[in-house]
Amino acid sequence: MVYFMTEILIQNGGTRLTCPKCGNYKKNMIREVDDRDHIINDYPVIYGKKYICGVCGSEWRWEKQE
Ligand SMILES: [Zn+2]
Repeated sequence: MVYFMTEILIQNGGTRLTCPKCGNYKKNMIREVDDRDHIINDYPVIYGKKYICGVCGSEWRWEKQE
């Protein structure tokens, strides 16, 4: 099995999802996937979300400020 460690970027706060690398904010150009390296809850297993930019291919997490 090949496992790629992808460098993950963090978007801090903000009111809308924005690619931290290229600034893309178009929803139809951003893919939301389960982040299997980031488990929020063990049982039942709930994964965090990460986002993949359709423009530059970066992956990032959105750390929402509460
Ligand atoms: Zn991007």
